[in-house]
Amino acid sequence: MAKDGAGTIDVFGDGRVVRTDIAVELPPSIDDGLTSAIAELHGALPALDVAFAVPLPALEVWPLFLTHRFQDGSEIYPEGLTGARPVGAGTQYVIGVTAPALMTFATATLIGLLAHEFLHAVHMTLKAERRRRARQPISSPSSGEYRKSFEANRQLDRGNEMRVRPDVWLSPQLIDLLKQYEDGSHIVTAGSRERMWEFWVNQGLPTALHRGGFTSPEDIALSAEILMRAESLGEL
Ligand SMILES: [Zn+2]
Repeated sequence: MAKDGAGTIDVFGDGRVVRTDIAVELPPSIDDGLTSAIAELHGALPALDVAFAVPLPALEVWPLFLTHRFQDGSEIYPEGLTGARPVGAGTQYVIGVTAPALMTFATATLIGLLAHEFLHAVHMTLKAERRRRARQPISSPSSGEYRKSFEANRQLDRGNEMRVRPDVWLSPQLIDLLKQYEDGSHIVTAGSRERMWEFWVNQGLPTALHRGGFTSPEDIALSAEILMRAESLGEL
């Protein structure tokens, strides 16, 4: 059992990869493995920034296996989740990745997951900026539909209400990895989901029920690079 971390730990001191602060210690071998995986992710950032054509939002690694339960009782096991989170003294939109996903996914699958979350992060950034420009409060109530069922969630998750268009924001190579991640072909071939379960849950490592519904504070810091790129793409 673990509670959702309220804060984050800035692993490298540059705010680019943070780790959710949970009140549970991981076994040393898992903690060491996670530390190496985070270091590898941090090392890959320069290449990822080039591939995504903007610096990626801060990445938050959750040392948890997450379950999200919908109102109809159906469940998903989020591997990534994007929202407003504390980084250093402020709050930013960060891309979250769970430790079991980070530690078991093949590189291509992980990049597909990052591409999926990136589209949400950009969407949130542009929505906040538009509201700011219109002098409206940034926090708006999220659609209740999103919480109803797996099917409603899946449709919204990949639609214009929750993300920017892949063909505008992603290179053909990233679109390819996104599609493979979303249609599960990487996951099927690599057996990642089963591996993730065996590797983390069956070993009794920390799990949590994800309640969802991040709210954005009015003073959230938006990525200047994403806003500039949106301007240049005619998206803002
Ligand atoms: Zn999503």
